[in-house]
Amino acid sequence: YQAKRERREYALYQRSSDNYTPERLALHTQLGRAIREGGLCLHYQPKIRLSDRQVIGFEALLRWPHPDKGMIPPSEFIPLAESTELIHPLTRWVLDEALGQLRRWQEQGLGTCLAVNISTHNLLNPHFLPELAGLLERHQVAAELLELEVTEGALMEDPELALRSLQAIRELGVSLSIDDFGTGYSSLAYLKRLPVQVLKIDRTFISAMVENASDAVIVQSTLALAHNFAMQVVAEGVEDDATAAALTRLGCDIAQGYHFGRPMPAAEVERWRTERA
Ligand code: C2E
Ligand code: MG
Ligand code: MG
Ligand code: MG
Repeated sequence: YQAKRERREYALYQRSSDNYTPERLALHTQLGRAIREGGLCLHYQPKIRLSDRQVIGFEALLRWPHPDKGMIPPSEFIPLAESTELIHPLTRWVLDEALGQLRRWQEQGLGTCLAVNISTHNLLNPHFLPELAGLLERHQVAAELLELEVTEGALMEDPELALRSLQAIRELGVSLSIDDFGTGYSSLAYLKRLPVQVLKIDRTFISAMVENASDAVIVQSTLALAHNFAMQVVAEGVEDDATAAALTRLGCDIAQGYHFGRPMPAAEVERWRTERA
């Protein structure tokens, strides 16, 4: 099992590291430094329960304010980190920071859940589980308040290993969700076996669902599927009231998007919450 894990991880690195340019190498070095020296930060985007429009949690989203290049989006540097072992200290930093923030919110009486995105490389890394348990312990945060988001595509890298890792994480008490659902190729047979509580419908299906009948059908079918498996559904990328209303009508549980709140630094979250209350 262990050996298979290592071979698998090595294969993943090999595949993603074949397009190394001097610029990518330089950026990689700078990213390593940013992780070690506190150069990264997290923004937090609210998750809204549609039935009563209450804030039920936040998703932590990683930001890299680069000294020369401005804000580098995660879509540019996460793949870079994933092409080497850098993804491990990166995720460790994110979890450490997110759990510290969750603890502070708890102390301020702002009870909330927090979701963190993890990469398939983390899931397949044997050190991940003990590290996660150690961080929960160190920050004295109840595992139930943490949710880990894994993309559907990532699970397909090695479905059996991913399933076993997810089961072990779930045994800690941490919640699990499938991110960008609808963009991968997981079968219903596989989905049925996953110890997952939440499906997040990808933004590409949400953004046009009001005008596009086939997107609306995909959203409806996903809702039926998830609810039959006793999973909750989050709609990603809700940008206007018409979409929020349509999702509420269809019985979608939770929404996230610019319509409700953009990802914001922790200091702004506190202001945003008092203004909204
Ligand atoms: P994701 O987890 O699916 O996150 C949702 C993305 O959609 C975020 O982009 C968010 O800012 C954006 N978004 C939210 N609401 C709206 C909306 O109404 N309209 C539009 N157009 N976009 C919206 P972001 O922050 O650039 O992150 C992109 C992806 O990078 C994330 O997708 C996630 O897969 C990955 N990512 C972000 N932070 C981390 C992290 O800490 N670790 C890992 N491994 N991946 C991360
Ligand atoms: Mg996510
Ligand atoms: Mg997503
Ligand atoms: Mg995404």
